[in-house]
Amino acid sequence: PSVPDLEALQHEDVARLLPVPGAESDKYRRGVVGVVAGSARYPGAAVLAVEGALRGGAGAVRYVGPAGDAVVAAHPETLVHAGPPAKAGRVQAWVVGPGLGDGPGVAEVLASDVPVLVDADGLRDLSPEAVKARTAPTLLTPHAGEAAALLGASREEVEAGRLAAVRALAGRFGATVLLKGSTTLVCGAGGAGPVRVNPTGTSWLATAGSGDVLSGLAGSLLAAGLEPLDAASAAAYLHGLAARRASDGHAPITATDVARSLPGAWRDVT
Ligand code: AMP
Ligand code: MG
Repeated sequence: PSVPDLEALQHEDVARLLPVPGAESDKYRRGVVGVVAGSARYPGAAVLAVEGALRGGAGAVRYVGPAGDAVVAAHPETLVHAGPPAKAGRVQAWVVGPGLGDGPGVAEVLASDVPVLVDADGLRDLSPEAVKARTAPTLLTPHAGEAAALLGASREEVEAGRLAAVRALAGRFGATVLLKGSTTLVCGAGGAGPVRVNPTGTSWLATAGSGDVLSGLAGSLLAAGLEPLDAASAAAYLHGLAARRASDGHAPITATDVARSLPGAWRDVT
């Protein structure tokens, strides 16, 4: 019997994955997520990634980068750090890349011993060797253009063969890969197992900043202890559901609307 090529994500599976705090929980046990994002040019990406992380069930979010003022103004519950990631205190997972430009932090975060999600500018010039050498899991969340750059292919080639592309990336980097787009695909590290397909998306998600919310959300689930394949799948599912809720099927939405609809999506699932 061969492994099925594709698996549609099911509501009940996602419901089982979402972390629920118990009586013994405190903010540290729920997971602390670190976000390395934003730049003078793109401070908003940091705000959106942090908001995704705050709404993903982690107990606390540490932000590292130059957009601390904007982040705290938008989300006063964030712990802000101006120094390098290693000085920020313990985290259970890192998110690196949204709006980062050529800012620092990627190599340092990759050198950590906790799960790391790499998105957006963090994916630029990412070396397979640096990822393969890690002792903890890595989750990559490219869109088709970013995936093409990582594979040395064209965006058209990736779009024409999304399943092959997500498997190739997961194999080449030894990482779990979430390939964004009109259908989001998630492939486990190595690239051999079935690829999960997210059924909840909507084309209204094609709007600036929506990917930043997704990376914060998935990072938060990593910090809560989900395996990368599960964290990525559950995040894509919730993100799509939140977008559908926000747009009600037929109205334009912003990335902020998606983030604000995450609690409702979470309640719909559980
Ligand atoms: P990014 O490209 O990083 O801004 O992320 C965009 C987000 O919107 C990802 O979650 C994509 O999967 C989603 N998205 C973009 N275009 C579409 C589309 N045409 N249909 C459904 N989802 C989309
Ligand atoms: Mg993006």
